Amino acid sequence: MHDHRKLGRELDLFDSDPLMGAGLPYWLPDGAVVRHTLEEFVRDLERRAGYRHVYSPVLGKRELFELSGHWSHYSEDMFPPMDLGGEQVVLRPSLCPHHAVIFRSRPHSYRDLPLRMAELGGMYRAELSGVLGGLSRVRAIQLNDAHVFCTPDQVADEARAALELVRRAHRVLGIEPVRYRLSLPGAGGKYVADPELWRRAEAVLREVLSDVDFEAVEGEAAFYGPKIDVQIADRAGRESTLSTVQVDFHQPRQFDLSYIGPDGAKHRPVMVHRSIIGSLERVVAHLIEVHGGAFPAWLAPTQVVVLPVSEAELPCAREFAESVDLRVEVAGPERGSLGARVRAARLVPFQVVIGAREAAAGLASVRLREGGKWEPAPVAEVVARISAAARPGAGGRR
Ligand SMILES: [Zn+2]
Repeated sequence: MHDHRKLGRELDLFDSDPLMGAGLPYWLPDGAVVRHTLEEFVRDLERRAGYRHVYSPVLGKRELFELSGHWSHYSEDMFPPMDLGGEQVVLRPSLCPHHAVIFRSRPHSYRDLPLRMAELGGMYRAELSGVLGGLSRVRAIQLNDAHVFCTPDQVADEARAALELVRRAHRVLGIEPVRYRLSLPGAGGKYVADPELWRRAEAVLREVLSDVDFEAVEGEAAFYGPKIDVQIADRAGRESTLSTVQVDFHQPRQFDLSYIGPDGAKHRPVMVHRSIIGSLERVVAHLIEVHGGAFPAWLAPTQVVVLPVSEAELPCAREFAESVDLRVEVAGPERGSLGARVRAARLVPFQVVIGAREAAAGLASVRLREGGKWEPAPVAEVVARISAAARPGAGGRR
C-alpha cells in the first residue's frame, strides 16, 4: 500500500495550504474527476435502489441540533455556533436533522414507506489539528448519506438491503473491508438513555448480521443508536470506519415524525441511517492507497491516451480521440519519444498506439497498463472494446 498523502500530491489529485487551514484540503482537477465519477456512481446505484436525492443546507439553527440531541451529546465535535442577528447558527455535524425536518414537511401514508432520502452533502467536524492529515481526517466532510424512513416491520429488510449495497459498491471499487463491527454503547453519558430503544435497535442489527462475521464493540455506537461499521485499514494498519448502517428510534421521536397507517391513525416511523461509500474524502484516500494511484479504468482521471508514433499520424490520433466517449488525451511527438510518452502515461489504463501501418489501414493497437497488449484492430472495434472495459465493475485491477 502507498501513502495517499504523498501520492495525492505527486499525482496532482489534491493538496492543502496553511492559509486555507488544517484539515481543509482542496481537490485539483484530476482529483475532482475521480470524486465526481464516484459521486455519479453512487447516485446511480442509489437511484436504482429506490432512493430519491435531496439537497439541504450545511448550516442550521442551534435549536435544530438541540432537538436532534447533537447539542447535548455531540457538541464537543461541533464547530462553535455563529451569532447572527440574535440567533445562533451552526455548521452541521451530520445530515440527519435536516432530513428528519424534510420528512416532516409533507404528510406521509404507510404506502409512501419505505421512503429513502439520499444526499451527498457537506458536514463539519471540529477535529483537533494534531490528528489531521491528507484526506482521511478532515474538518469539512462530503458524506454519501441517506436516511430510510420506514415502518418497524420494514426496518430489518431495509438495513439488510443497505448492507448489501455497501458490499456491492465495495466489490466494484476493489475495497476489501478488514472487519464488520457491531458498535454498541459504552459507559458514560454520551448516549441517549432509553434501554428499550437500544435493545430493539441492537436486535435488528444482530439479525442483519446473522450470516456475517462481525465483532461487537462497546463504546462505538452513535449517541442515538447502535450501528454496523464496515472497517477499512490504511497502509499503517490503522482502522477507520468507511461505511455504516444504523437503526434509530430516537430521532423520529425527537422530531415527532409520523405516518398514517392502514388503520387511519398516526404511527412513528423508524430511521435507518446509512452510508455506502462513506465520505468522499476518506474513500478517495483509501482508493489511492489500495490502487497505488492506478485507479480502475472507470475511475481513472485519464482513461485513454492516444499516442501517434510520428507527426504524420497526429490527425488519425485526434480522430480516434474524438470517436471515444471517455476521458481521453492525445500525447503527440512534441512530448518526446514514444518510450517517454508511454512512461509518462503509465497510470492510464489504455494506451492506444497509432503508427504509419495502423494509420494507413484504419487500425489501432492498444497497450494495457497492467501489461499485455491488443493486436492491431479496426478503430471502431478498438473503441467498442475499450468502452466496454471502462465500465464500472468491468475489471480494472481485479
Ligand atoms: Zn444520519
